[in-house]
Amino acid sequence: QSNSNNIGFQSSPGLDKSLSATGAPLKGHPVQVVITTVDHQFELDEDALAQILLQPNVRDKKISIVSVAGSFRKGKSFLLDFFLRFLNADGLPDWLGDEEAPLEGFSWRGGSDRDTTGILIWSEPFFLKTRSGEEVVVLLMDTQGAFDSESTVKDCATIFALSTMLSSVQVFNLTQNIQEDDLQHLQLFTEYGRLALEDNDNVSKPFQALQFLIRDWSFPYEAPYGAAGGRKILEKRLMISDKQHPELQQIRKHISSCFDKISCFLLPHPGLRVATNPHFDGRLKDIEKDFLEQLQVLTPMLLAKENIVLKEINGQKVRCEEMMEYFKAYIKIYQG
Ligand code: GDP
Ligand code: MG
Repeated sequence: QSNSNNIGFQSSPGLDKSLSATGAPLKGHPVQVVITTVDHQFELDEDALAQILLQPNVRDKKISIVSVAGSFRKGKSFLLDFFLRFLNADGLPDWLGDEEAPLEGFSWRGGSDRDTTGILIWSEPFFLKTRSGEEVVVLLMDTQGAFDSESTVKDCATIFALSTMLSSVQVFNLTQNIQEDDLQHLQLFTEYGRLALEDNDNVSKPFQALQFLIRDWSFPYEAPYGAAGGRKILEKRLMISDKQHPELQQIRKHISSCFDKISCFLLPHPGLRVATNPHFDGRLKDIEKDFLEQLQVLTPMLLAKENIVLKEINGQKVRCEEMMEYFKAYIKIYQG
């Protein structure tokens, strides 16, 4: 087994696994900033968040927050670890990196923390230069939740609402299709958030971009993988027609009224090693080519500097130190 990464230099075995495509080690770790307590209260770890948002080289910059939310054990953290690779490799074409490198970052496969509901942020902000030459900050947000009992449904709705309020792009991670109950959940989540944002200016929509992401899409002959196929499915699922029950029409109107932009992307199945092998550690060579190919379309679509969506609240771009105040204000709404 070789220790060289794909730019060809030798590195020590100990370092090899944490090297990205560019050879820069992946710095940082997940930080749980929103915690759900045993009695289903929400707490913000202000100190932990301040360490990220109030750093001298960060606090006065505009910010983009990309969040991934949805049910438990559907590959959210796994996906985010590829987003980390992309950002860490500065968007270079070979960002996917070494065939043999285990995937690291947000913990996936469900470790000991699998039952906690909450919001995690990667400790290291990434810096990007926009077209105008302004340096902005990108943060990645992971959410955790399980829909296994009444109380956790409420916790999940709150986590989804909070992460949607806080992010500039919310990736709604689903498997196989957009089902009617996914739309119902989405309506519940966004209603939680919309009510909370009562000082909204009524001009801008309460939330920014919603990206449906359908995993394990298995009908490529019906709608092709990627964004075009996603558009087709989204139109079908969000279409409003007189023939629908009024309640179904209402759900669709509500969802469309909440977001500035809604899109959908179809990802193929990553292969059986990813889905079922307990020894799979995330290395590229065990992942289906189709999946990696689409991942290389999706990731820059969300995170390349020309596509990044900056966080806006009431039509105003928000800087990191202001974002700190929004975190505090939004969490208060759900406390007590
Ligand atoms: P999370 O709870 O949503 O964050 O899920 P994880 O990222 O921890 O992944 C849970 C399991 O799903 C892991 O065993 C992954 O290997 C597997 N997985 C990751 N992506 C996919 C996918 O697109 N399809 C399938 N079927 N499994 C996946
Ligand atoms: Mg996870």
